[in-house]
Amino acid sequence: MARIELDHIRHAYGPNPKSDADYALKEVHHTWEDGGAYALLGPSGCGKTTLLNIISGLIHPSHGQILFNGQDVTDLSTQERNIAQVFQFPVIYDTMTVYDNLAFPLRNRGVAEADVDRKVRETLEMIDLADWVNKKARGLTADQKQKISLGRGLVRSDVNAILFDEPLTVIDPHMKWILRSQLKELHRRFGFTMVYVTHDQTEALTFAQKVVVMYEGEIVQIGTPSELFERPKHTFVGYFIGSPGMNVVPVEIEGKQARFGGQTVDLPGAPDMPAAKGRMELGIRPEYVRLGREGMPVSIAKVEDIGRHKIVRTQLEGQEIAVILAEDEDVPADPHIVFDTKGINVYADSWRVAWGG
Ligand code: ADP
Ligand code: MG
Repeated sequence: MARIELDHIRHAYGPNPKSDADYALKEVHHTWEDGGAYALLGPSGCGKTTLLNIISGLIHPSHGQILFNGQDVTDLSTQERNIAQVFQFPVIYDTMTVYDNLAFPLRNRGVAEADVDRKVRETLEMIDLADWVNKKARGLTADQKQKISLGRGLVRSDVNAILFDEPLTVIDPHMKWILRSQLKELHRRFGFTMVYVTHDQTEALTFAQKVVVMYEGEIVQIGTPSELFERPKHTFVGYFIGSPGMNVVPVEIEGKQARFGGQTVDLPGAPDMPAAKGRMELGIRPEYVRLGREGMPVSIAKVEDIGRHKIVRTQLEGQEIAVILAEDEDVPADPHIVFDTKGINVYADSWRVAWGG
């Protein structure tokens, strides 16, 4: 098991990178705690796989170092780092039996045959493939093969870390739930450091102790699900997490008031911000906007009924502001909105500077 330090990591795939735009990873500098369960969350192309492969040793970073428990492993192979990695698509030996596929990584490390047998059977049991020990992997479906890939990663509980790169993409939704809770249980039991890449916020939020949000080659925030929800450090985090995401409203800040169009919103309790004057952005989640007969007058652009609640897209001075209504609530005849100041975050150049309430 290991504490993983990422020391000023930068990575460019092409030769002669000149500007930040040439880097798939711009600057990643962070320590991940020994035994932590981290979800790496971000949109497609933001650099999640690149970072994971740098931790495992499949990619050597252009700049920076990786340390495991204080030791520099930047020039070591995946095997020397003692890492298990599960990829998005199955990586298994078609010609081997299911049993031998799982036994392979253990035998490779010289584990005694009796222990191999015990570990393999235990793992197959866990992923519900106990009946298949003697089946050849060839001929299995893609999601069955992916379960074997998972098994190959999980069979080695002595690893420094287990890295998962969107491993449940090809697994059917019902099985996803089962496997996810089994992974959680295994993590609790063996205490390995776990990094789990996903672009699915629900998966990240239900699964991890810490969620690492990536955006355009950088880590923009690491936090618990509720920190990410209540205090997004960057407008991207607010927008990406939540459904629908945080409303971002351009405002003019003056003292403890925010103005936009003809409207004024008080920010009681906001810290004094002598520098924070002028154009900024106000972030407020749809959960913190109340739709009623008082407050700022809005027009209704759209109402989406999504079962348990409704998403109402209101318009205020040409700005869309989403509101969430309970299933049994109706849009009032003369709609107005009020912001719950507890839910307000204030941003300058997309980074949070202050909040109300
Ligand atoms: P993610 O896993 O978040 O979708 P990736 O790490 O795969 O993102 O990609 C990050 C960026 O690096 C993207 O712009 C992608 O096009 C680029 N990239 C990824 N792999 C390669 C490669 N082998 N060669 C060149 N560019 C790559
Ligand atoms: Mg990827």
